[in-house]
Amino acid sequence: MSVKTNIEGIRHEVPDSVTLVAVSKTKPIEMLREAYTAGERIFGENRVQEMVDKYVELPKDIAWHMIGHLQTNKVKFIAPFVALIHGVDSLALLKTIDKEGKKCNRTIFCLLQFHIAQEESKFGLTLEEASELLQSETFKAMKHVEIRGVMGMATFTENEQQVRTEFRHLKRIYDTLKQKFFSGQSSFDTISMGMSGDYRIAIEEGSTMVRIGSSIFGERDYVNVK
Ligand SMILES: *Cc1c(COP(=O)(O)O)cnc(C)c1O
Repeated sequence: MSVKTNIEGIRHEVPDSVTLVAVSKTKPIEMLREAYTAGERIFGENRVQEMVDKYVELPKDIAWHMIGHLQTNKVKFIAPFVALIHGVDSLALLKTIDKEGKKCNRTIFCLLQFHIAQEESKFGLTLEEASELLQSETFKAMKHVEIRGVMGMATFTENEQQVRTEFRHLKRIYDTLKQKFFSGQSSFDTISMGMSGDYRIAIEEGSTMVRIGSSIFGERDYVNVK
């Protein structure tokens, strides 16, 4: 199946109110061009260098989403153009994003990443950590970041009920933060959850943004990835 056919199939399933991020990590420029020609304008990458390389090559009306874990020393490379950083999980990272946003004279949109899966290895905050971050004077002084919502990844499992429970947990975190910290901010509206294997469940549980890679571009081959 072609990239175009895949995108059309997914668009058909995803409600208009849910934003589709085409996760193009590890995929060659030609495939991104195919997606672009099919109308896709939001791409997700998880490595800074790869994202910068693709940004330079491709049309400038693409919104680039950083979906991977971001190291503070690499923020400066994407700060001038990144549209949304999904994986913010520390005050230190947010501070750096704010600093780099200031240098570029722009406000950088971010999502707070939460740990909702059972797996140990996944990054992310707890609700307590996020509350602490949002209450800190350091955060309140930031002028060049805007928290737009939350992001999370469910456990990689066949157990649908578990995945559903984890997504429901993230939705509850979003609702709590909205009420406590963002009640007056209509732009705090994003719940980024759902990938190729679980986006249907995520949408049922309130996702507003799905990040889909392999169902659009095919399975990834990590053998040749730096
Ligand atoms: C790779 C990746 C995706 C896309 O995964 P697929 O299963 O290929 O759809 C989504 N979110 C994050 C954070 C990823 O790293």
